[in-house]
Amino acid sequence: MSDADVKAALLARARRIVVKIGSNVLTDADGGSARRLPALVRELAVLGRTHEIVVVTSGAVAAGRSRLAGARRGLEWRQAAAAVGQPTLMARYERAFARHGRVVAQVLLTHADLADRRRYLNARHTLRALLGARVVPIVNENDTVAVEELQFGDNDNLSAMTATLVDADLLVILTDVPGLFTADPQRDRNARRIGVAAADAPELTAMAGPARRGVGTGGMATKLAAARKAAAAGIGTVIASGRQRGVLAALFDPARDAGTWLTAPADRLTRRKHWIAHVLKPAGTLHLDAGAERAVVSGGRSLLPSGVRRTEGEFAVGDCVRLVGPDGREVARGLVSYSAAETAKLAGAHTRDIERLVGYKGSDELIHRDDLVVLDQERSSRARSES
Ligand code: GLU
Repeated sequence: MSDADVKAALLARARRIVVKIGSNVLTDADGGSARRLPALVRELAVLGRTHEIVVVTSGAVAAGRSRLAGARRGLEWRQAAAAVGQPTLMARYERAFARHGRVVAQVLLTHADLADRRRYLNARHTLRALLGARVVPIVNENDTVAVEELQFGDNDNLSAMTATLVDADLLVILTDVPGLFTADPQRDRNARRIGVAAADAPELTAMAGPARRGVGTGGMATKLAAARKAAAAGIGTVIASGRQRGVLAALFDPARDAGTWLTAPADRLTRRKHWIAHVLKPAGTLHLDAGAERAVVSGGRSLLPSGVRRTEGEFAVGDCVRLVGPDGREVARGLVSYSAAETAKLAGAHTRDIERLVGYKGSDELIHRDDLVVLDQERSSRARSES
């Protein structure tokens, strides 16, 4: 299939689209103006006539910082800047969309909202209701309350989670560069933009380079990570320049060459397994022996206490943990049935000794198969039907 065919196929089934707009698209280097926003909204409004759109926007901190006196450092300062800037940012979107007859809604999320299964589903229902009412949700991280352990980390990650939350068909990440390049285009004259690639292609990792921090957070590395997260849920991503005029029209015409399109594999994780592997933050690590690694990775089995050599971290019953093989590589994630202290006692033990070791009769498995996700392997086409 040619690149144009791949894009045409992706676009043909794209009804619901999440568009992420980075801080560096909306602001000058000094974080001052937001001239680009009305023009982008005009483009979004055109797209919104034929598609459902959800906007994930950065720029609250950038919009607030110039009006905040005092030392410009630390998390509290960032949170304060976001508190000042978020209503300004929203007002701009509201005004701009109103010119095209569209109503917007502010949706502020923290990672903790999505790590709780019930709140995750609530957020999903609210977003669905908004889309049903033809309202454009404008999503941002709730920076004002998000201290480190509650954070998404960056809005690229938030956009991938939002895409899975609303069952989007496509994630569009608009940034200040036209896509993912084979090398840094500012340093290497031979650097070439990737047109279409599989999101999970290993060679992309080196091309994306290390994460960087500027006005917004992230860099190409976080965009690639977001595309991979979306891909695991069956959602394709395109990374393109939000500074280019008419960028959305260019992207939605398969014959034109714009952006980097990162495709998703045909099979994907069920929604719950995607939530375990890509939404929850692991609270600890279980080191497995070779036999247990094999049983879990290729045998489709649950993890039993006997296969665990040691544990790390302070996790509680039901927390998400990493499963690491003897070579130190993470091979799976799952929800653990025992606390860290209990798991340490159970490590290497036979199932029949569980009651004696922890003082009660819990489950035989340390991690039940249903709560376990082998990374990059276990996918299922059942995802759509499951909620
Ligand atoms: N949520 C932050 C803001 O609105 C931006 C985070 C990011 O750019 O990744 O300013």
